[in-house]
Amino acid sequence: MKKPRGVHDILPGEVERWQHLEGVIRELTRVYGYREIRTPVFEFTELFQRGVGEETDIVAKEMYSFPDRRGRSLSLRPEGTAPVVRAFIENNLHTWPQPVKLYYTGPMFRYDRPQAWRYRQFHQFGVEVFGSADPAVDAEVIALLMEFYERIGLKELTLEINSVGCAECRADLTGALRNYFTSRLKELCRDCRARLGRNPLRLLDCKEEKCRGLAREAPVPLQFLCSRCEAHFQAVLKELETLNIGYAINPCLVRGLDYYTGTAFEVTVLDAGAQNALGGGGRYDNLVETCGGRPTPGVGFAVGLERTLYALEQQGVKLPGAASLEAFVATAGEVAAAKLSGVLRLLREAGIAADRDYTGRGLKGQLKQAHRRSARWVVILGDEELSRGNMAVRDMDTGEQAELPETELVRWLRTRQSKTDVLVKDY
Ligand code: AMP
Repeated sequence: MKKPRGVHDILPGEVERWQHLEGVIRELTRVYGYREIRTPVFEFTELFQRGVGEETDIVAKEMYSFPDRRGRSLSLRPEGTAPVVRAFIENNLHTWPQPVKLYYTGPMFRYDRPQAWRYRQFHQFGVEVFGSADPAVDAEVIALLMEFYERIGLKELTLEINSVGCAECRADLTGALRNYFTSRLKELCRDCRARLGRNPLRLLDCKEEKCRGLAREAPVPLQFLCSRCEAHFQAVLKELETLNIGYAINPCLVRGLDYYTGTAFEVTVLDAGAQNALGGGGRYDNLVETCGGRPTPGVGFAVGLERTLYALEQQGVKLPGAASLEAFVATAGEVAAAKLSGVLRLLREAGIAADRDYTGRGLKGQLKQAHRRSARWVVILGDEELSRGNMAVRDMDTGEQAELPETELVRWLRTRQSKTDVLVKDY
């Protein structure tokens, strides 16, 4: 049996890297005051059609949608914001102290052509803040994102930022974009020709080289911002400067989702080719209302974790590998074998990662196994030592050996455990 294309197994050895990212995410969101939300991996298709937008690539081309047994259309979530918005409305989170600051991590699903950096099941970490239109919240979300990258050790990042304006700003912009691109119709790619009627803003963001050239000369949202959007944008930039966060204004940045209003941002990593976006987000002040809730401003981001790990690897950043076994308990003789489970339990209860052989190996085989498992200590229960009421213990790092009674074992290991502790805490 083979797995479908575009999905991955994450095996022990690699999973520690994921756990490390997850640890950073948990700690970072804690200090910023965000609480975790877990939503289902499938929702009614309509949520994404309304929330993400029927015209977006994600919804139009990339959703895993299927009828359930009663014929209702369900979809595997292609992104996390619409489900969190649905949960916010459905669970009346507007009654909680505002703003409500949430984060999530989990798998997303998009039926895209699998290629480097693009998978059909991938994982995102995202945050969403509801209930405040303060530009300081936009800046906080961006600060959290940049601190995430900093804490995991990723470098050579560019934060691009833009404002796509509100509905009021867009009325004039849309007309201007249509005029401009209609006059250059022949030079556009097929997708852009199709988008022009429905969503001309998206033409600014096309990845095709010829369209990018045209986009550079096109009218852009910044030229059409109303005074409120302009003030908001300037306030976000000022706050970023206060926080010492470098940014580049990219007037063509609009992002692929329809729900953004005002601030839009994206983080890219140098030298990663076309799929170099690591994460991005923005403000979506109309989304809660669009999805059936009362008007509630919102802002958030999503980060692709596979791409983040890949970028870390490319930059040679070392992440913690598997934590090795601490103690391997080996036995020689029948009296010893009867004592084994008691000693193991003692160690495990004391918080020492301990294991044993289960395949009937002789003492030599067990010691070999301890070495293969990189055990720091080997505890040997031999009939001879046991007849003196003792057991043997050997520190594989230092070569130190001792013969001790069972009552001394945990203390002996603990006094030497500090080195292992530091290794674990170091990351
Ligand atoms: P988006 O929701 O499209 O803004 O994506 C946010 C982030 O998720 C991107 O910057 C990527 O890091 C990641 N991402 C999006 N689509 C994929 C995919 N098909 N495979 C892997 N990562 C993805």
